[in-house]
Amino acid sequence: MDAMTTPIPALRAPMPPFEGSDAARDFIARLDTFIRDELHPLAQQHGIDSENGAPRALLEQVWKRSRDLGFYGMTLPKALGGAGFSVVDHALVKEFIYASGSPFAPHVLGELTGPPRVGALARQATPDQMERFILPVARAEKAICFAITEPEAGSDAGALQTRAVRDGDEFVLDGTKRFISGSPFCDFAVIICSTSDDPALRETTAFFVERDRPGFRVEAGYKTMAGQSHTGNIVLTGCRIPAANQIGERGRGLALALGRITVNRLLHCPAMLGLARLALEDSLAHAARRRQFGQPIGAFQAVQHLLADMATELAAARALMLGVARSLDAGTDARAEASMAKLFCSETAFRIADRAVQVHGGEGIVQGSRVEFLFRLLRMYRVLTGTSEIQRNTIARELLGPAVR
Ligand SMILES: Cc1cc2nc3c(=O)[nH]c(=O)nc-3n(C[C@H](O)[C@H](O)[C@H](O)COP(=O)(O)OP(=O)(O)OC[C@H]3O[C@@H](n4cnc5c(N)ncnc54)[C@H](O)[C@@H]3O)c2cc1C
Repeated sequence: MDAMTTPIPALRAPMPPFEGSDAARDFIARLDTFIRDELHPLAQQHGIDSENGAPRALLEQVWKRSRDLGFYGMTLPKALGGAGFSVVDHALVKEFIYASGSPFAPHVLGELTGPPRVGALARQATPDQMERFILPVARAEKAICFAITEPEAGSDAGALQTRAVRDGDEFVLDGTKRFISGSPFCDFAVIICSTSDDPALRETTAFFVERDRPGFRVEAGYKTMAGQSHTGNIVLTGCRIPAANQIGERGRGLALALGRITVNRLLHCPAMLGLARLALEDSLAHAARRRQFGQPIGAFQAVQHLLADMATELAAARALMLGVARSLDAGTDARAEASMAKLFCSETAFRIADRAVQVHGGEGIVQGSRVEFLFRLLRMYRVLTGTSEIQRNTIARELLGPAVR
């Protein structure tokens, strides 16, 4: 065999040395066993893939098993059973989960409807709210979604029109929330409403709202471009809730919702990079396996350069993510840096997926191939949780300072 025809072994994408704590390393080792021995077979047994989502009963099984194994509550405050991990550890754990390729990835830590949705609210919640909302979510018995976006309030989240009007011991809620992750299978929602008496004044307040209250309806009839249907609208029509469901102070709704926006922005990066790693690994394997002109396509320099660029950009994005995570752990504000990470990781991950499709040729175009799905899924991250343009606005504002605010 000459150099042109020698098969190229399928390599895993290079993984730099582990930078987290020993506790996180152990956590990931146990997660690896859980995902390989339980979640992969469970998905196979029930025909679940990333586009054919699991029914609520099966999700509940995953949430509860993850809870029993000590994973589900990882993000909670330590007093509620959280792991007390640094941002670096948290990012590494999430990256590992998404790089596993499991369709249950968003459910292992309960990112759509579990503990990450309520951890920060635990500080604001009354003892009654802890019992009725936070603890059932932490115990994986109930699911909760988080609703800010509306048909007329997207990037401009302060322009909310959903109204909460006080009536004795109750509030009456009217309005529509749009694109709410997890709403099709939630039991409760955190709804951010306008409570201003003067429409010219932006005043927002947060409320816990139970799904079974009259006047609460979920419209779940659409799918995202990634083929998933776990996003829906919440329509509130004269929905009455006890005043005791108000979270924190009146007027602090958005502040409460966006209070951890810097850390949250950064913590979207490991999901994108875990998925981008999958795209790279699939491409390496395909380049070694697929033969054209009598040789593996990985022997062509044009294909090698695609792979080299994918690996290089993944390494750069990962270094930025971990650098910002370290800054946050050191107590730095890092607002601009977290936006840089969200911007760079989402744009880079999509470019990696695009190249992965190119390496796969026709295979990468056909629905059902993983890189085709990753391409559509990673496209969405450039819009979710603050579009790339909004991240650039934040970065520029921080760079320019008060002069242009
Ligand atoms: C799958 C999915 C899940 C979601 N989950 C949730 C959820 O759980 N809870 C929730 O509350 N929301 C959720 N969202 C909503 C999401 O946060 C918004 O879609 C996002 O913030 C963008 O808002 P928009 O879609 O209204 O776009 P728009 O704000 O209408 O933006 C349209 C375009 O205009 C640009 N633009 C807008 N303003 C500016 C500006 N000032 N400067 C420059 N460019 C600008 C944008 O960058 C974009 O390119 C979800 C969305 C999706 C698609």
